[in-house]
Amino acid sequence: MSLRLRLTLLYTSLLGGVLSLFGAFVYGLVSVVLMNQIDNTLSSAANELIFYIHINSSGQIVFRSLYDIEVGDNLNFEVWNNEKKLQSARPIGLQDPLDIVGLRSGKVQFSTVQNEIQKFRVLNVPIQTIREPVGVIQVAIDLTLLEVTQRTLASVLVILVGISMLMFGLASWFVNGQALAPLEIMTKVATNITHANDLSLRIPFTGSTNDEVGKLIITFNQTMHRLEQLFSTQRRFIADVSHELRTPLTVIKGNIGLMRRIKKLDEESLSSVETEVDRMIHMVGDLLLLAQAESGRLPLDLKPIELDTVLLAVYNQMRVVVGERLHMRISDIDQVIINGDRDRIKQVLFNLLGNAIQYTPTGGSVTITLRKVSEKAQLIINDTGTGIPAKDLPHIFERFYRGEKSRVRRDGIGYGLGLPIAFWIVRSHGGTIEVTSQEGKGSTFCVWLPLQK
Ligand code: ADP
Repeated sequence: MSLRLRLTLLYTSLLGGVLSLFGAFVYGLVSVVLMNQIDNTLSSAANELIFYIHINSSGQIVFRSLYDIEVGDNLNFEVWNNEKKLQSARPIGLQDPLDIVGLRSGKVQFSTVQNEIQKFRVLNVPIQTIREPVGVIQVAIDLTLLEVTQRTLASVLVILVGISMLMFGLASWFVNGQALAPLEIMTKVATNITHANDLSLRIPFTGSTNDEVGKLIITFNQTMHRLEQLFSTQRRFIADVSHELRTPLTVIKGNIGLMRRIKKLDEESLSSVETEVDRMIHMVGDLLLLAQAESGRLPLDLKPIELDTVLLAVYNQMRVVVGERLHMRISDIDQVIINGDRDRIKQVLFNLLGNAIQYTPTGGSVTITLRKVSEKAQLIINDTGTGIPAKDLPHIFERFYRGEKSRVRRDGIGYGLGLPIAFWIVRSHGGTIEVTSQEGKGSTFCVWLPLQK
């Protein structure tokens, strides 16, 4: 059964239940009120009758002027003496007691009596002198009118409840249809996505974004957007890896082919093969490290380490590489102890300093600062190099992302994994990396790491 039908049936039956209860209440109330009215009429009639009755000295019932008694159209009465003999009755011709049980009981009581044809409401009133009871008055009203009224009321109520349920059911079917229409579209779009394998599809939606369906659609579209991004990252990643592996493999194949042709081991070819193999091993290692870090499973040998000492060691190594090409200096160095994996932290320093050196032309400068700032270690590496174009800046921490200028050069050093690795290592240590850069003026990388507690 569809959700639309289920909701419609649920709402309609709820409304039906409430209306039926209400109808039963109205029916009961009207019945009680009408019955009270009948009982009042019977009481007044009995009072009037008593006025016409006189008890003579021998205790017998005598009527004053019975023919003056005015009784309503459907009012009957009987006057019985103590010997259970009918003294008078209206309409004339009545012979049986209107209420035989009441007649015997000799008490004031109302009762509802059913004979073969009709139903009556009967009031039984004993006639009493100071000394003893002398007879009984019975006044009765035919209940046919009441029953007709009750039946009519019941029919009207049933019809009203039925019509209301029908109208409400239709309205509810329509409204539910409108409210659930986006879900149907969602199902269609989801099916299309599966069948057509097209993650770019979105659910068109123009309704309110505040209701549950609106929010669901927004979330669905956001999820699709995220999935699309993930898939395209995945595709790009595979393309990048294939591309990065293709070149060294082509070089290796070329060198092997050469050696086969000349039928001897050529030293130059061998060292070229070795370089490319090293490069591939390096890249695969970096990719593995990234995969581990991204999934939160990077093995870290965490120990208290003096960051200033590690920095100095890396700095001294780099100085040898840089020689006189650049002005490289440490402007400020505080003694800083962090809880970290020495080798991984070194890797971060090598990657950041390596980039600063690589992207700064001869004569430029690279300045390093290490400070303690509010319970954190702040490491700044500033260079006066090429800078990073604004359009590249948001992407430099993505795998295989290389700035335009870096891409055209293939000097065997980087392949766009240095910064993502630095980012993930710092993140695994509970820190962050920030970057500011101006094209043509230089870049500043700032690493924040928590101090050892
Ligand atoms: P790689 O250096 O191997 O290309 P990275 O991940 O280390 O890869 O850096 C990504 C890109 O960020 C580089 O290609 C370069 O365009 C840019 N970049 C990184 N550091 C600097 C820097 N200090 N100065 C200028 N550009 C930089």
